[in-house]
Amino acid sequence: MVKNLFLAFVLTLPLIGCVTTTNIQIANPKPFVVDSETYQATGKSERIKTIILHYTVSNNARAIKLLTTGDVSAHYLILDHDDNKIYNLVPESERAWHAGNGGFAGRTILNDTSIGIEIVNAGIKPEYRNALKNSELDYHPYEHYVEFNEVQIKKVAQLVQDLSKRYHISPKNVIGHADMAPSRKIDPGAKFPWERLYKEHGIGAWYDDFDKQFFMNQDAFSAATIPEIKQAFRDYGYQINDSDEWDKASRNVVYAFQLHFRPQQPTGELDLETYAILQALNKKYAGRDDFY
Ligand SMILES: [Zn+2]
Repeated sequence: MVKNLFLAFVLTLPLIGCVTTTNIQIANPKPFVVDSETYQATGKSERIKTIILHYTVSNNARAIKLLTTGDVSAHYLILDHDDNKIYNLVPESERAWHAGNGGFAGRTILNDTSIGIEIVNAGIKPEYRNALKNSELDYHPYEHYVEFNEVQIKKVAQLVQDLSKRYHISPKNVIGHADMAPSRKIDPGAKFPWERLYKEHGIGAWYDDFDKQFFMNQDAFSAATIPEIKQAFRDYGYQINDSDEWDKASRNVVYAFQLHFRPQQPTGELDLETYAILQALNKKYAGRDDFY
């Protein structure tokens, strides 16, 4: 009888297991201390790696509505009038939904690791919106794009300078939407003043003229094979397919590159000067960021 009672007790133990656990927690009600001072790791880097610039293709009112009520957003919004403000719509610690599919410098899912800045600008002038249909043009030339105004450039300069410093952004990771999604996007377009931002405010990447001239004189372009050319784009950070053909997707990469680095003549056709600029950039910004 005593044996049976003992057996019954043992069989009941698992049923009261959870009660026992609860009792332990009650016995130790103080939360554990998270100590972030005693030990610290050296293997670490910023989560934010890239700054992506966009234009809105809309006016102020419409941009505010779309970016604050829809499924598209950006961390920062720069309007086109002088209201003395840069609007922060999404905290930098959270993801904004601005980048979409694509990649740059070996990273994809760029919403995870980038800050997005939307600049109010109409993009292509209304009279040229349908210019590529029924025409010989494959891509919009420089004149088709709408200018940014002076206040916007100053706001972008201040904001990107501050972000680059705080997150230690590599110069070539300050990019346009087109740079990371060349077959889907052309913003911030040919009128965005990348060269001026580099030369006047130290923002982003730009080539040295001396190097460009050197590579033009050397003319590696005339002997370069398609795989070599594609690898050169890849080395800089562009995503480009590895087919042996120079297809539309490849021309889209060239167009995005030209919008950024040779904006007065964005043709989508690779030429000696474009290739020399790419080589000059690869020389100046050799190597990649950390990928850990
Ligand atoms: Zn965009």
